[in-house]
Amino acid sequence: DPRLRHIKTTIGVVPNFPKPGIMFQDITTLLLDPKAFKDTIDLFVERYKSKNISVVAGIEARGFIFGPPIALAIGAKFVPLRKPRKLPGQVISEEYELEYGRDCLEMHVGAVKPGEHALVVDDLVATGGTLCAAMNLLERAGAEVVECACVIELPDLKGRERLKGKPLYILVEAH
Ligand code: 5GP
Repeated sequence: DPRLRHIKTTIGVVPNFPKPGIMFQDITTLLLDPKAFKDTIDLFVERYKSKNISVVAGIEARGFIFGPPIALAIGAKFVPLRKPRKLPGQVISEEYELEYGRDCLEMHVGAVKPGEHALVVDDLVATGGTLCAAMNLLERAGAEVVECACVIELPDLKGRERLKGKPLYILVEAH
């Protein structure tokens, strides 16, 4: 698909951000290109529009950029999965390992009902720890995770192997 080649050219690579040695994949430059941004959303919508998905769960913060337009286009609700102490209501929490230390995602109780079919959206998969925590939240609420969708994969980190056998759909591999 020629759209994918163009999308890849719009993703910036920032060396040594946020730490020395990291080649940060920057999607803010993709957002500056209206065709690349629209094509990104369209590619996901084409894949998910007839898959009977009732909830799109977006991971803070960049899953909040790509998730809502997908949810609107496929007629699903949008549920934000947030960093700790951001959501005002009762929450369930999942901790996960980072390279240094731990982090946590939270979801509002009652936002997702048992039996719902969920899509998890983020910008990038590295180790897969974040997507795994997101899937655990949805499964604890009784939802079935249909797939995880990201714009970019860092394939060397083998994040796919941490996704509990769930399918991962990505648009491009990192430069
Ligand atoms: P993982 O849990 O798969 O190791 O890391 C993925 C999470 O870290 C995602 O939420 C993603 O937004 C963030 N992340 C890690 N590295 C990068 C990067 O190079 N670029 C961007 N945009 N996000 C990253």
